[in-house]
Amino acid sequence: MSLLPRRPTRRVMVGHIAVGNDAPVVVQSMTNTDTVDAEGTARQVFELWQAGSEMVRITVNSPEAASQVGEIRRRLDAMGCDVPLVGDFHYNGHKLLAQYPDCAAALAKYRINPGNVGKGSKRDEQFAAMIETAVKYGKPVRIGVNWGSLDQAKMARMMDENAQRAEPWSAEALMREALIQSALESAAQAEALGLPGDRIIISCKVSNVQDLIKVYRDLGGRCEYPLHLGLTEAGMGSKGIVASTAALSVLLQEGIGDTIRVSLTPEPGEPRTKEVVVAQEILQTMGIRSFTPLVTACPGCGRTTSTFFQELAQKIQRYLREQMPVWRAEYPGVETLNVAVMGCVVNGPGESKLANIGISLPGTGEVPVAPVFVDGEKTVTLKGDAIAEDFQAIVEDYVQRHYAEGGRLRRSLPDVPKIIPLKVL
Ligand code: SF4
Repeated sequence: MSLLPRRPTRRVMVGHIAVGNDAPVVVQSMTNTDTVDAEGTARQVFELWQAGSEMVRITVNSPEAASQVGEIRRRLDAMGCDVPLVGDFHYNGHKLLAQYPDCAAALAKYRINPGNVGKGSKRDEQFAAMIETAVKYGKPVRIGVNWGSLDQAKMARMMDENAQRAEPWSAEALMREALIQSALESAAQAEALGLPGDRIIISCKVSNVQDLIKVYRDLGGRCEYPLHLGLTEAGMGSKGIVASTAALSVLLQEGIGDTIRVSLTPEPGEPRTKEVVVAQEILQTMGIRSFTPLVTACPGCGRTTSTFFQELAQKIQRYLREQMPVWRAEYPGVETLNVAVMGCVVNGPGESKLANIGISLPGTGEVPVAPVFVDGEKTVTLKGDAIAEDFQAIVEDYVQRHYAEGGRLRRSLPDVPKIIPLKVL
């Protein structure tokens, strides 16, 4: 099945970032710093933004945290970082937004969890207080329902009704319906309180892949709000990446999802920016958006017992990603560059020819040379101890010639010089 058209939605502006209605699917992330630590939080937001996060959520869980949000915004502005900040509120958001106007003004969006705004009669009152603040400051909200904090009173009512059915729904089906109803009823309530419909984004997160797909397919057909997509508590390492990719890919393929977040648990020592990289790679490998040049590499096998090609693939991918904060502005279009690093002659030349730049390294027993292909043509054969450095220089040269303003001009002329061979056999 090819990529289906995006589900039509309203367009919501979060700061200067558009979400929904044909805007590119937005990558977002969340900090794990203590918001009270304005310096550390601003630094992590900056890192997430530099990695490509187009909006960043911070937790606002206490008066101390709320008092620092304006300061975090000011620090980011001073660093030249205009990423919209989203405030994540639970339990006391109504009080914090009222008591800290600097916080309410500095945030570009409020995340409201309808299951956590209050119990009994307080629930509607406190929800209304948050929506009224959003109206007052002209901010959008995300009605973010989560199965771990589903409104228990609502769930109990729905279970009673279900018991009366001739054929009761399964517990899973009931939970999915409760999530969707909670989100849609809260959105309708927000609109009734005066929040325009084009200031509402919805999410209904669960941690099970099949349930997430069912919930969002159903939700997508029942409203016109943009949808924030993400598998909650996806987990750590490959499990978290695979589960998020499996769930998000199916929905994105069907045109469902306007902004995504990958909720990875960082492994010890792993940078928080990993979740941004994974979100970008999901979108890029699906052909939905391009963010950074990608390296195609073979898995290696018994034909190449050296680890050199793995190290080169890793080094080039890291190098390309590290350059992106600067290259994004200097070399527009460079994010579509494709580099191949292959382990031997079996698939090496073929795959290299399909990439913009490809190198086929020598397998075990092969002559120790590495042919390089540029735009499908063999241009040079590298050898010796500096293959990695020479190949990186070829990539740099290609980027400068093809993506800089001058490079684009030269490319249109017939006398584009070939890459100067570095070491030719
Ligand atoms: S390109 Fe060569 S080294 Fe790489 S997987 Fe294929 S046969 Fe093995």
